[in-house]
Amino acid sequence: MKTEQSHQLWLDKDDRYIWHSMKPYNPNATVVVTEAKGCWVTDVAGNKYLDAMAGLWCVNVGYGREELAEAAYEQLKTLPYFPLTQSHLPAIQLGEKLNELLGDEYVIFFSNSGSEANETAFKIARQYHQQRGEPHRYKIISRYRAYHGNSMGALAATGQAQRKYKYEPLAPGFIHVPPPDRYRDPDAADDPRQLRAVKAVDDVMTWELSETIAAMIMEPIITGGGVLMPPDGYMKAVKEVCEKHGALLIVDEVICGFGRTGKPFGFMHEGIKPDIITMAKGITSAYLPLAATAVRKEIYEAFKGTDEYDYFRHVNTFGGHPASCALALKNIEIMETEHLFDRSREAGEWLLSALKTKLADHPYVGDVRGRGLLVGIELVADQTTKEPLDVSLVNQVISRCKEHGVIIGKNGATVAGYNNVLTLSPPLCISDDELSFLVRVLTEALAQIK
Ligand code: PLP
Repeated sequence: MKTEQSHQLWLDKDDRYIWHSMKPYNPNATVVVTEAKGCWVTDVAGNKYLDAMAGLWCVNVGYGREELAEAAYEQLKTLPYFPLTQSHLPAIQLGEKLNELLGDEYVIFFSNSGSEANETAFKIARQYHQQRGEPHRYKIISRYRAYHGNSMGALAATGQAQRKYKYEPLAPGFIHVPPPDRYRDPDAADDPRQLRAVKAVDDVMTWELSETIAAMIMEPIITGGGVLMPPDGYMKAVKEVCEKHGALLIVDEVICGFGRTGKPFGFMHEGIKPDIITMAKGITSAYLPLAATAVRKEIYEAFKGTDEYDYFRHVNTFGGHPASCALALKNIEIMETEHLFDRSREAGEWLLSALKTKLADHPYVGDVRGRGLLVGIELVADQTTKEPLDVSLVNQVISRCKEHGVIIGKNGATVAGYNNVLTLSPPLCISDDELSFLVRVLTEALAQIK
């Protein structure tokens, strides 16, 4: 019985039994979804929505790919589980495939979520320096506004104070630097390469003492913190600063990876070789949980000593689950055969340019930015002062889009006062017609708050 009445019934039960992420912060009423296909999800009342967030920035190949379900099913029949304290074929095959995508030699540690992949990276970075006789290197540098996960270390690395409030103290040894923000930096015109943001990393590493810095973690583009586009060359320059201070560079590709920005990985726009790369979400298009921490071969080699504490003493039960790995292989195959990385680049260029044109004169649209199928629309109350638009108006846009069949997002409960960026991150298989529909609904919803 797909009626509004049955929808309400499920919503009542939902309210009784389910503790949602962010509840009750999220003001946009829950959608109880029953099925999904391509870019569209259907709720229990039969309403259809274009999911322009691909779930939580993750269903990269779109919903309803039966071959992914089949890959997992076949694997579950053959070998449902074996721990990676030993090994199994899907994990080895996926490790090889990831190396092919990364275009270099990395050793892969599998886990289950982006948070875990980052925790794994922090432990590897700290132990690596110990292995090499530099035990004082423990500090991890990250950027304000970035999100790196919900666990005590990953949240400590997160530069969003609102997410940490009431959970502190978190893991010690995490220090933040400001990110490049070309829209809000009053001197952006004089500093187009945002060299000040690079210098901030250099300064902090110096002031904290180079000898104490283990690593810097960064996303290629800060995503959940407001789609902050760095200038070209920023990440390369940060990598050089890390090298100068003897620190490792960990690149968090949890959202940017697997085509989101128009290349297999976001760091590839900069032509650098990160020391550690973390990934999750798009690795399986979220059909099953899986995450990976890819570690430069030379770092891995440092763990091959003969001391009983030389090995990496880090175990998880489900990481690299055979079904997840088999599914991930099929997911990557789909991305390659359907050229979804290129599609993300081309569709993203069209989307960005359409939104820029249509929203050019909107009094509340301060900035439209992004790369590939990752877009942020920063809403302001005043174009000159750039005062962030009141969050209730931002939420109105999201609700109106939903009423007209489109799910969009916004940067979450992040940096105090800056919850004013609408976000788009649709499946990479989105069609031209669906993109046009998205642009139309979004511009109409924005027109109503003028
Ligand atoms: N890193 C980034 C950039 C993320 O956006 C997220 C989650 O949204 C994470 C890490 C944490 O991933 P997970 O939610 O799978 O733990």
